[in-house]
Amino acid sequence: MKALLAKALGASLLLASLGASQTRPAATPPAKPKLVVFIAVDQFRYDYLTKFGSQFKGGLKRLLDSGAVFTNAHYEHMPTVTAVGHSIMLTGAMPSASGIVGNEWLDRTTGKQVTSVSDPSVKSLGVEGRGGASPHRLLVSTVGDELKMLGRDKAKVIGVSIKDRSAILPAGRMADGAFWFDKPSGSFISSTFYFQQFPAWAAKFNESRVIDKFKGDLNYDKAAESNPGNDFVVAFAEAAIEGENLGRNGGIDILTMSFSANDTVGHAKGPDSPEAASITLHTDAVLGQFFAYLDKRLGMSNVLVVLTADHGVAPMPEVQAQRRMPGGRMTEKTVLDAVEKSLDAKYGPAEWVLGKSGPGPYLNHALIAEKKLDLEEVQATAAAAVRQVPHIARVYLREELRRGLAPADLVGQRVQNGFFYLRASDLVIVPEPYWLFEAKGTSHGTPWNYDSHVPVIFMGAGIKGGKYTNRIMVPDIAPTLSQILEVEPPSGTCGRILTEILR
Ligand SMILES: [Zn+2]
Repeated sequence: MKALLAKALGASLLLASLGASQTRPAATPPAKPKLVVFIAVDQFRYDYLTKFGSQFKGGLKRLLDSGAVFTNAHYEHMPTVTAVGHSIMLTGAMPSASGIVGNEWLDRTTGKQVTSVSDPSVKSLGVEGRGGASPHRLLVSTVGDELKMLGRDKAKVIGVSIKDRSAILPAGRMADGAFWFDKPSGSFISSTFYFQQFPAWAAKFNESRVIDKFKGDLNYDKAAESNPGNDFVVAFAEAAIEGENLGRNGGIDILTMSFSANDTVGHAKGPDSPEAASITLHTDAVLGQFFAYLDKRLGMSNVLVVLTADHGVAPMPEVQAQRRMPGGRMTEKTVLDAVEKSLDAKYGPAEWVLGKSGPGPYLNHALIAEKKLDLEEVQATAAAAVRQVPHIARVYLREELRRGLAPADLVGQRVQNGFFYLRASDLVIVPEPYWLFEAKGTSHGTPWNYDSHVPVIFMGAGIKGGKYTNRIMVPDIAPTLSQILEVEPPSGTCGRILTEILR
């Protein structure tokens, strides 16, 4: 009995001491970065890392060698397009919460086709008279917004890209500035949403024509859409770091940058082309130079780098045919014509389709009300016609999705996550795997895994490097960053903290 008691006592003492050692503060508290560099590559399949990895010598090699690399990270929404991907990265929010449902859609309040960032209430700055753009349609906060709202330190948040949406959406509403490339003038521009006066350092950058040395004999359109476009982004990012003193403002600053040229090359040439290989290796090289610059200026131990992509891409259907794999081409027009024709036939000739988001039609609700038709019945008529189009896998009705009726499989869940009632098209249309709505080149936008599987890599202080094969989703990035920065998770995030990579 005594022996047993002694044993039990010993065990409880052992437990107590274990408990004490667990609550003892760690010898070195996890280091906080001074600058978060968030890098998005526009259209980057995860398998570019495995396919081209042995040829990397620069920044991608550094990320693969010392970062926490997720091999099984996916988007969990449809449509897998640029605006939506970029809206998710630092909000962790699905379109169902963020309101960013596509690159473009029909704004039902104005009856006008809009883009994710078009904003007639603001003016362009840097070059006058361009279309105004802002994050006013983004309904949720970004990590940067949370950092700013906390007001703990004088954090600065800056976004840079070739595309307006890719600069604006990751940075968020409280950003100190977002800058994108104006092809006609070869300048980086912004809008009065952020400031009334274009920052002097950015004006100086444009005047210096520093980017001209990268473009060679290409015009700005061609240059921005091929390898030099990524040099432009890095050159301007370095100017922003110096102009805004990023990493030296006494707190944590955030710089988001997105490489758009990879997308243009990928669309035109496909993921199996030598051009896709070339721009991937060029991205590796420019990131290598950029990290060397950061190392020299701030020391990489003060920088946290996160890299991901906004979507993958499908192989070219012609390449797939040679492989005896499925795939082929149809057009958005085929689908939209099928809708128009079926409604003309059943309810009388009229202008039934007012706008679109990808192949998804926005029906004329005023006309449907005027004719006293049942909206869902009209949608069902149109859906039946679209289902007759060869190689359409699924057609969902907006009113069905409002009631959450999509089946809870891979496709259904991704469609439902992409659904925001007030901005949704009347039909959500999913093609069979590898089928495209393009007459040439290739694309993305579907819920299939070749569009959803992307790299997610964290590298820097406090991150446990290595390969992580567990399945995660891109919306996990934002709450993880929030944890590292000790700020609130963004308002719409549905992700989890990737605790496995935290020291
Ligand atoms: Zn994109």
